[in-house]
Amino acid sequence: MHILETQHLCHTYKGNIDALRNISFVAPRNIRIAIIGPNGAGKSTLFKHFNGVLKPTSGKILVRGEQITKENIREVRKTIGLVFQNPDDQIFSPTVEQDVAFGPMNIGLDEESVRHRVNEALKIVGLEEYRTRVPHHLSGGEKKRVAIAGIIAMEPQVLVLDEPTAGLDPQGIREITRFIRNFSDTYGMTVIFSTHSLSLAAELADYIYVMNRGEFVAEGTVSEIFSKP
Ligand code: ADP
Ligand code: ADP
Repeated sequence: MHILETQHLCHTYKGNIDALRNISFVAPRNIRIAIIGPNGAGKSTLFKHFNGVLKPTSGKILVRGEQITKENIREVRKTIGLVFQNPDDQIFSPTVEQDVAFGPMNIGLDEESVRHRVNEALKIVGLEEYRTRVPHHLSGGEKKRVAIAGIIAMEPQVLVLDEPTAGLDPQGIREITRFIRNFSDTYGMTVIFSTHSLSLAAELADYIYVMNRGEFVAEGTVSEIFSKP
């Protein structure tokens, strides 16, 4: 059974925009997958289906073999950690550590476990020194890492990152790139990220899906994709 799978997934927004057309996708364990495509291709829409933010117009999402329901949505969101493109959509607390603690507290972990999760997550993203900082005042790359820490503190089995390097300076891009590589190597995690950067996909991904106008138009390993004429 796959940890995450979509079958013939279609999504039509109001106004008849077919954002997803027949997307069938499987995420094996312990792999880095890039979804590349231009703006408007449907990448964010697809990611919002992975953890039940959107409901399919038709087709299925399966998380550990089960469709998403009201009953299992909390479990699904623990399993599939989604980091939005804009960290400001995800960061609400007055300090970095409170922000990262929010999810673990919300699922009712005791204080000691919350502290442990926060420490680990901040270590993983390299923000241990930032606990008492105000997220709002951090750089784009640092904010991004706070948002990521908040998600990995939930110990998801799949980490989904929507345009993780969008809007970052070269230093921020290097930090996020290093984080993604270390994180999946260290924890054997499945990481799925979207990007319109071919170089980021080539550098990080084991497997690439090319998306355009709501469809997968090509897929393969980095060498397969980049050797196509
Ligand atoms: P990407 O992440 O690849 O840039 P999106 O998933 O954001 O693509 O968008 C796919 C298509 O769906 C685009 O045509 C976009 O304009 C449209 N779209 C996205 N969100 C909405 C929405 N809330 N309502 C209507 N159309 C939307
Ligand atoms: P431990 O027995 O200390 O939990 P592990 O090797 O399972 O040893 O994990 C080491 C630390 O990394 C743990 O404290 C755990 O909180 C954290 N950790 C493990 N897996 C993940 C994950 N997928 N995401 C975030 N943190 C994780």
